[in-house]
Amino acid sequence: TDSHPYHKGKKIEDFYELGEILGRGSFSVVRKGRSKANKKYYAIKIIQKKSVRTEVLEREITIMQKLDHPHVLKMNEVYEEERTISIVLDIVTGGELFEKVVERGHFTEQDASAIVSQIVGAVAYLHSQGVVHRDLKPENLLCANDSSKVNIYVSDFGLSRIFSDGDFQQMSTQCGSLEYCAPEVLLGSPYDQSVDMWSIGVITYILLTGYFPFFDPDRNPAVLFDKIQNVAYDWEDCPEVSVAGKSFVSELLVYDPKKRMSARDALKHPCDNLNKAFANMLK
Ligand code: ADP
Ligand code: MG
Repeated sequence: TDSHPYHKGKKIEDFYELGEILGRGSFSVVRKGRSKANKKYYAIKIIQKKSVRTEVLEREITIMQKLDHPHVLKMNEVYEEERTISIVLDIVTGGELFEKVVERGHFTEQDASAIVSQIVGAVAYLHSQGVVHRDLKPENLLCANDSSKVNIYVSDFGLSRIFSDGDFQQMSTQCGSLEYCAPEVLLGSPYDQSVDMWSIGVITYILLTGYFPFFDPDRNPAVLFDKIQNVAYDWEDCPEVSVAGKSFVSELLVYDPKKRMSARDALKHPCDNLNKAFANMLK
């Protein structure tokens, strides 16, 4: 489309000065880039074509083209060359939410609720557009510290998938990181958008406590698998988390996907109220 030009056979370097590496993913390097046309800075995600299947790449680009939400990372244009595809993204300079958790240990309930309400808002939008993210985790949530307020951008649509009615039942591919993965995904069962809500439950637990809800100190995937299947998490080492904070997480870490809170349920009240509602819940 016009708003997201796709350039085939043009070199990214002719249009952007490429600078420092901002991050790395499993299949990509993301570098800072300055547009020669408007002199502004962007994040340029460079993917080696040989490392990713064409459909997967096309899916990521098609999904990002149709998204427009204040808390979803924006794509501007794409350059396809012989060996690489470069996706020009808005730059988000505050780092990954993951790093913030590591720095701070955990967040206050008020800060956590502000962050979670932004994530839920973005995910409710994705689901309304028929997009399941499938890889929500703090590494894929980018932070901007424009003001005193943390702004979160949901990013990395490499594993997301568009579903239409009836079709989403067929989704049964495994997801990204075990720690954030819903039980039905691990079993290889068909699943739907509620897998994202499970991941939001895991992320909320981490923000509130600084710990993973499901974790094996020996890093044995089989043990982790069992813990997730049994929804075996507790709040033993987290006496400071309120009853309400615990109950919010417990509505998301629900084994039966049909009984899990949906993004829309969480947003039944206008978005602003979610923040207040969550803050009140947390008292
Ligand atoms: P992958 O699909 O390979 O996991 P990501 O899209 O997650 O790639 O990007 C990898 C890393 O690059 C991110 O975890 C983040 O640290 C950094 N990054 C990605 N997009 C941006 C951006 N728009 N602004 C700043 N850093 C980014
Ligand atoms: Mg990633």
